[in-house]
Amino acid sequence: MTSRTSGPDRRDLLSALAAGAGLAACASAQAPAPTAVPAAVPATGPRKSRTGFPVLVGSANALAGMKLHYQRLLDGADPLDIAIDTIKVTEADPTDDSVGLGGLPNEEGVVQLDAACMYGPRHKSGAVGCIENILHPSEVARLVLERTDHCLLVGKDAYRFARAHGHEHVELLTEASRKKWMEWKETMSTNDDRLPPPPKLPHVAAARTRSSFLRDRVTGTIHVSALAKDGAIACCTSTSGMSWKIPGRVGDSPIIGSGLYCDQEVGSAGATGRGEACILAQGSATMVELMRNGASPLDAGLQTLERVVRQTKRQARWQPDLLDERGWPSFNLVFYVLGLDGTAAGVALYQPRDGGVLTYAVATPDEGPRLVATQALLS
Ligand code: ASP
Repeated sequence: MTSRTSGPDRRDLLSALAAGAGLAACASAQAPAPTAVPAAVPATGPRKSRTGFPVLVGSANALAGMKLHYQRLLDGADPLDIAIDTIKVTEADPTDDSVGLGGLPNEEGVVQLDAACMYGPRHKSGAVGCIENILHPSEVARLVLERTDHCLLVGKDAYRFARAHGHEHVELLTEASRKKWMEWKETMSTNDDRLPPPPKLPHVAAARTRSSFLRDRVTGTIHVSALAKDGAIACCTSTSGMSWKIPGRVGDSPIIGSGLYCDQEVGSAGATGRGEACILAQGSATMVELMRNGASPLDAGLQTLERVVRQTKRQARWQPDLLDERGWPSFNLVFYVLGLDGTAAGVALYQPRDGGVLTYAVATPDEGPRLVATQALLS
């Protein structure tokens, strides 16, 4: 099913681009900028690419796939191949209830998946939203990238597209996930995503209950950003989305600029956690733009989280459940950030309240694939 974006053409293109970037840097040091360059080009320019230092960064549940596939990246494999093959390991794992097979369903008990991928050398993306009964939405996202002129297909038509490309129909609701859904339906269904009609004054008391629901609800997604040996960058995100979501809801994961984004001049970023907050902040595109303007991956991630906090406080004037009793976001959001120079970071709004440690997965030539603690903005 895997079809490679890489090949002689892509490698040639990439070397040509790298050579061109080098020439441009020389030219700007020695001669005035050509008048045709628009004034809006950021003064800091593209980040310097580091070749020969392949890196993977992503959510903690990507570790198993990284362990299987990182060696191929070290050997010179294409970053999109490795990002997707890493994610497919978790999509096929019935014990991970946040992605693919065994993913927690929507409020009707139907597993609806979102996935997207993006490829730096071509600056092209592909995505599927709300797709059902397909085991590897990440591969279908790649088909959208490679075999269409579009960026996003949704719902039944995304399913038909996948079937036309040979993907099998698979029942994704496992017994374990069905039981969790039924338990929620029988006991927790007042805690769902349907809001009452807009009140004249916020219903603070009712909001308190839902605030703890937002904090405790089961969430999860897988993201991987990959930097190849030759400096090519790519990323992929795949999810079953928020558990018990309203049917048809699409989160941040398949939205380019929100759940993932990469730019061959800068780096890559991705997100897991409350998708609505990430969409409203354009989280991944924001981090890439901050890096373009000189921020490190760590600073780009933390600054974007700070923006999310400010935006959430504004939203909470109408939806108080978005803040907890301390006045901070009642949900978590985690970002994975990778610079073109091979530096990486994982940041979160919070570490878990139970004293546990929220980790992210990273693989570098010196230490290989491992879990590292995320840096939290708030405590
Ligand atoms: N970001 C995902 C979504 O909003 C959910 C998650 O990562 O927990 O669909």
